[in-house]
Amino acid sequence: MKSNSPDSSLSQQPNQQSNLQKNLSLPIKPRTKSRKVWHLLASFLLLPGVMLAAPSLEAMAQTSQSSGSKPPELSYGKVLQSIDEGQVQRVEIDPVNKLARVYLKDKKAGDPVPEITLLDQNPELIEKLRSNNVEFDVQPAPSNAAALGLILNIFWILVFVFAITILLKRSSGGSGNAMNFGKSRARFQMEAKTGIVFSDVAGIEEAKEELGEVVTFLKQPEKFTAIGAKIPKGVLLVGPPGTGKTLLAKAIAGEAGVPFFSISGSEFVEMFVGVGASRVRDLFKKAKDNAPCLIFIDEIDAVGRQRGTGIGGGNDEREQTLNQLLTEMDGFEGNTGIIVIAATNRPDVLDTALLRPGRFDRQVTVDYPDLKGRQGILEVHARNKKLAPDISLEAIARRTPGFTGADLANLLNEAAILTARRRKEAMTMAEVNDAIDRVVAGMEGTPLIDSKNKRLIAYHEIGHAIVGTMLKDHDPVQKVTLIPRGQAKGLTWFTPDEDQGLVTRNQILARITATLGGRAAEEEVFGDSEVTTGAGSDLQRVTSLARQMVTRFGMSALGPLSLESQSSEVFLGGDWMGNKNEYSEEIAAQIDREVRLIVNKCHEDSKRILRENREVVDQLVELLIEEETIEGDRLREIVEQPKDAVLVAK
Ligand code: ADP
Ligand code: MG
Ligand code: ZN
Repeated sequence: MKSNSPDSSLSQQPNQQSNLQKNLSLPIKPRTKSRKVWHLLASFLLLPGVMLAAPSLEAMAQTSQSSGSKPPELSYGKVLQSIDEGQVQRVEIDPVNKLARVYLKDKKAGDPVPEITLLDQNPELIEKLRSNNVEFDVQPAPSNAAALGLILNIFWILVFVFAITILLKRSSGGSGNAMNFGKSRARFQMEAKTGIVFSDVAGIEEAKEELGEVVTFLKQPEKFTAIGAKIPKGVLLVGPPGTGKTLLAKAIAGEAGVPFFSISGSEFVEMFVGVGASRVRDLFKKAKDNAPCLIFIDEIDAVGRQRGTGIGGGNDEREQTLNQLLTEMDGFEGNTGIIVIAATNRPDVLDTALLRPGRFDRQVTVDYPDLKGRQGILEVHARNKKLAPDISLEAIARRTPGFTGADLANLLNEAAILTARRRKEAMTMAEVNDAIDRVVAGMEGTPLIDSKNKRLIAYHEIGHAIVGTMLKDHDPVQKVTLIPRGQAKGLTWFTPDEDQGLVTRNQILARITATLGGRAAEEEVFGDSEVTTGAGSDLQRVTSLARQMVTRFGMSALGPLSLESQSSEVFLGGDWMGNKNEYSEEIAAQIDREVRLIVNKCHEDSKRILRENREVVDQLVELLIEEETIEGDRLREIVEQPKDAVLVAK
């Protein structure tokens, strides 16, 4: 069948595209309304549908054939004419299949219903139908072909959207995702169970005792609220790095069995103003949802520094973050079961607003462990290691004054690595001693070959050792070695008697004298013109000790004056103005004179001791060059021999 009549709608302009829908929308009965949306969508989806048109077109062909005999087709023009002539009773428009079924008035039952193929837009048809009062209706083809097409189309759309999303994600996920700055990515960690208990923390018993109460706050707040006590909100842990502050906070959460939220102060500080504050908000919101719980803020000095200080004034972002933190801490009541624990090693730079009651009003000091504490920490970390019976944790603790918990943990780990490297079954004292040397003085180097240089270094080290041994106020020698470590070509180790709290004047003088022993030996044996640069760091130490005696400890003829305070770093938020020296030029000259007096006196003492013990010095140097290392006990044995025995040995 073909149409001869001119097809007027061919001349339609593309800008009238939505005419079909617009025109249809008026007379449509309400029941088709929801369907209309689907049709709209369907026609919309036609573009991607083309890509996969084959199955749906096929299906369409099938449906039009499936109604038995193919319905006769009329031409578009003829239908328009029939409408004008009033022969048409009803028209059913099927926009999906682009068909219109025309029910003529003189149609007999059983006659096939003629169909016409529609164009994209059919304004005249609609116009005509309306003006001639012909009933018309929009009916989709009663087939699932359209539905199938729809599903396929939606599938394609989804694929498309998915691909675009991935593309967008990738392009914004690169280096400069400045668009995301407003969003606060969750930077805090949450541990539902820390798995750490108080017995994992050793050597800081006072702090543990103090914090045992916090565990009770978290576990049984009613105990305190019942008698009207307010539960503190914040605890500030103060102490040097590695002493176990983080560990302690985790142990509290572990003991109380509450979740542990942690964030580092430096993570609050971002390039963009406001991000830190929003992180604080997020953190506290999350914590409230999980109460009772513990919030741990590490390095709080990064945000909590005194506002408006430092060179160049304050830092907007940091202050906003701090303000937000203060607000949040005020915003919850003590009995909501949130306890905030913060850690810092610089409580002096914290903003006073942080320390007032209701915020971090409790301060707990976590200090370097003492001898017993170190032994306790070693016991904790030795639990999972295989130790040979010769290991004495007490001896290790004795050798490691000034070590923090982290240092000791690291020490045992180094020793375990050495043990594995040496293919031993269990860790022995040899590995631990090597590990201590390595941790304190650095990597072991290769020993020097025998030369004048080696001899000079041997005299230098024996000089330290002998002077140290002869002075009764000096710590005993632990060992002397010619094996280089780190920067040092040779080393003399002394064992500090016990953890020194207070140091006497004589002890400082002895230390200065022994430190000068190396240079003094070079001078005595090789002459003034042969001395080396090897004593550089010795002299630095000597000068600093002597100067502190004069300016800080009042141990000179200048009298008990404190003339200089310990230097504090202005860049870390300290006070710029308070660091001035508070003395006159005249006093400055006197200080220099006193320092020189002390050092010169010690230098002379040192040389005298070496002259008086020259034989034993020579003997020890020969031994050291031969054996590279002399243990302290052996050294003392040789030194304590009667003089004539030494002469015989020569
Ligand atoms: P800080 O937070 O004070 O810098 P950490 O708590 O992070 O120190 O300590 C680091 C590691 O050192 C811990 O994981 C633990 O293995 C060890 N450590 C530190 N102090 C102790 C201690 N008192 N008892 C046991 N182990 C400790
Ligand atoms: Mg820490
Ligand atoms: Zn030296």
